[in-house]
Amino acid sequence: MLRIAIPNKGRLSEQALELLETAGLKPEFRADRALVARLGDSFQAIFVRAQDIPEFVADGAAEFGITGSDLVEEAHRDEITELLDLGFGKCRLVVAARDESSLKAPGDLAPGTRVATSFPGIARRFFQELGVEIQVVPVSGAAEIAPHLGVADIIVDLTSTGSTLRVNGLREIGTILHSSARIIANGEALNVEETRRSATELTNAVESVLRASRKRYLMANVPRAKLDEVRSVLPGISGPTIVDVLDQGTWVAAHAVVEADQVYQTITRLKELGAEGILVTRIERLMP
Ligand code: AMP
Repeated sequence: MLRIAIPNKGRLSEQALELLETAGLKPEFRADRALVARLGDSFQAIFVRAQDIPEFVADGAAEFGITGSDLVEEAHRDEITELLDLGFGKCRLVVAARDESSLKAPGDLAPGTRVATSFPGIARRFFQELGVEIQVVPVSGAAEIAPHLGVADIIVDLTSTGSTLRVNGLREIGTILHSSARIIANGEALNVEETRRSATELTNAVESVLRASRKRYLMANVPRAKLDEVRSVLPGISGPTIVDVLDQGTWVAAHAVVEADQVYQTITRLKELGAEGILVTRIERLMP
C-alpha cells in the first residue's frame, strides 16, 4: 500500500477529503479517531498536520501528500516533487507592517529589522535575496500580535482576504508568494514503476474531478429549425449531442458540456432561440 499524508484538521482538511471522495477515494476508517484509513485499493491515508506533511513526504514516510505550497516551499526539500495544483486553499504569504509605519516595500527595511513569522526559512531566503539583513522571531501562529507587543517590527504571514491583517492594525507592504493546496510526491518513490503508475492514477482521478467542477451538463429542447444557431451557442468539444424528441419532428433535444461560468449567458441565448425545458446539472468526473 502506498501512503498519502492528508491534513487531519485545519483549513485544507475538509476540501482535501471531499475532493478525494468525489474522485472515488473515500477513506475507510477501522475505528473512530483513527489516524490511518484505507483509501481505495492501492492507498493508505495517514492523517497528520498540514505543516508536517512536506517533511513526511521528503523522508519517505509517505509516498504522497496533500498540503499547501507555502508549507512545501518552507520545507525546501529537494526530495519533494509537485504533482498537481488543486486550486483550493488559496492564500498569499505577505510582508506586513504596522499601519503607522512609514515602510512602503520590503526593500526599505533597516538592517536588523525583527520579523515575526512561522515561515522562518522563506523569510530568511526572501530578505537575503533582497540584500536586507533581518532577525527572525519565530512564532507558531498569531504573528499579527507581535509588532504590537514590541517583540517584532514587521511580520511575514499568510492572508487570503487581508481582513485579519487590517483588524490587527497591519498593512501589507509586499507579497512573497501565492499558495494553494498541492498533491506532492517523494521523487525517489516515483522511480518505482508501480508507484509512478499509482501517481498517474491518483492525479488523473483528481484532475477529472477538478475539470468537472468547472463545467456543467446542459440539456434543452430546441426547435429543429434553429439547429444551426443552437450549434453556435453550444460549440462544445465536438458540438452538442442532438437527440430526436418523439413528436412530429419540430423539436430536438440538445445536450452539451458548457463552462460553469457561462451557463447563464448560454441559457439566455438558447431562450432567444425558443429553447424550452432547459436543464443544467453538475458533472462528477470528466475525462478528456
Ligand atoms: P491549518 O493551519 O492547518 O489551518 O492550515 C494552514 C494552511 O492552509 C496554510 O499553510 C495554507 O496552505 C492554507 N491557507 C489557506 N488560506 C489561508 C489563510 N487565509 N491563512 C492561513 N492559511 C491559509
